Amino acid sequence: MDVLNPATEEVLGQLPTATDADLDAAVEASQRGFNEWSAMTALARQKIMEKAARYIEDNLDQIARDCTLEQGKPFIESKLELGFVIDAIRWYSEEGKRAYGRLIPSRFPGTRLIATKEPVGPTCAFVAWNFPGVNVIRKIAGALGAGCSIVIKPSEETPSTAIAIARAFQEAGVPDGTVNVVFGDPAAVSSRILSSDIPRKMSFTGSTAVGKLLARQAADTLKRCTMELGGHAPVLVFDDADVGAVAKAAAATKYRNAGQVCISPTRFYVQEKVYGDFVDAFEEATKAVKVGNGLDEGTQMGPLIADRRLPVMQGLVDDAVSRGATLVTGGKRIGNQGYFYEPTLLKDVPEDATIMNDEPFGPVAPVASFKTEDEIIERANKVKVGLASYAFTKDGDRATRLSKQLNTGMVGINSMNVSTPESPFGGVDESGYGSEGGIEGLDAYLRTKLVSETNM
Ligand code: NAD
Repeated sequence: MDVLNPATEEVLGQLPTATDADLDAAVEASQRGFNEWSAMTALARQKIMEKAARYIEDNLDQIARDCTLEQGKPFIESKLELGFVIDAIRWYSEEGKRAYGRLIPSRFPGTRLIATKEPVGPTCAFVAWNFPGVNVIRKIAGALGAGCSIVIKPSEETPSTAIAIARAFQEAGVPDGTVNVVFGDPAAVSSRILSSDIPRKMSFTGSTAVGKLLARQAADTLKRCTMELGGHAPVLVFDDADVGAVAKAAAATKYRNAGQVCISPTRFYVQEKVYGDFVDAFEEATKAVKVGNGLDEGTQMGPLIADRRLPVMQGLVDDAVSRGATLVTGGKRIGNQGYFYEPTLLKDVPEDATIMNDEPFGPVAPVASFKTEDEIIERANKVKVGLASYAFTKDGDRATRLSKQLNTGMVGINSMNVSTPESPFGGVDESGYGSEGGIEGLDAYLRTKLVSETNM
């Protein structure tokens, strides 16, 4: 398959795709890898994983450059992403040492009840292109930290970061078969791998529609699943917030990675009294975003991942305007080479506009006003994909109420950072189930065994 540069439409190289025999070989290798890797102590595994983290540190600029070439995000964002990759490897490798069980006081004399944690077995994963490093490492490092092996299919559009990560683990000395990377026709690859009873767990990052498909396939062999699916994050701006500062932060977060972020703020709800001020400040921040090739100095936003995303953006904008929204700035493709779309701001967007209901996954920001807290919680919670939500207020009581009432797996209160290696990351309802990151992310690759031991 050709791998394209979305900023120039040039072919960067060709990606080899796996045959069924290759996929079977990868899955079988993951069983052998698991046998060796899981038999090692957590301490020995940590030492190898630390070497992989150092390999990425040592080759950071090159890996980041390749990431930008095929994904389009600014070079600085690629570097920051790889910083997360390195931290996640370290976090999971250390946390693997603390996969504690517990001793349960027994009701029978002379008996010990021991709950132990053990790795679930070989695993498999399928991930989206928007974070070629983070999406991949959340799976690989979680699995390896717990003592599992993995077969992973990253996106065919952004293969190089995953290959570099796999190389890092290979150079660091993980046993053969512990980390396996495959590419190919997505549906064919996943159905072949999921039909095998060797992987005991599947972890997926991608759209809700594909997630449902894969969960059904995983059910045939009763694999455990972690599902990191779509989001449509509301941002609630109350009239006691520092509106100028919020608008600035909101714009920076909104246009990060051209809006192609599952926790991207995607529905802006601003309380009436400060609505005009917020829109003005957001407009100013939007117009200031420097769009260009991610390798060019000063670029703040790159292209969309592929040409298929351009009509989707245009459709969302046209639909919103046809239903009464006002286009404040942006609203069209930039030039005709590379998949660039203008940072776009829409105001007075009605609730029935498609963009208020379907995840945009692009640089289009819809803003609408609200009157009361009760009203806006209901509007914020109306979508089924509960991944992230954000609220800005200086009222502490209200902050507490919001953090309880917003129906998402992650809530940012006066903060737009809900993703770190050490904290749980995941959604609710049709945004999926299970968490990555933190102790929850390790636990997802562990199973519980009870040992009941009586003295004879
Ligand atoms: P997608 O579901 O189309 O693709 C994701 C992965 O699934 C890729 O590896 C792809 O090759 C594979 N795939 C695609 N179609 C398939 C099929 N028919 N059968 C089997 N596999 C298939 O998602 P996308 O459009 O590439 O990514 C964007 C989506 O991912 C958004 O909805 C976004 O919110 C979500 N996402 C979620 C998280 C999270 O952690 N919750 C993180 C990043 C992205």
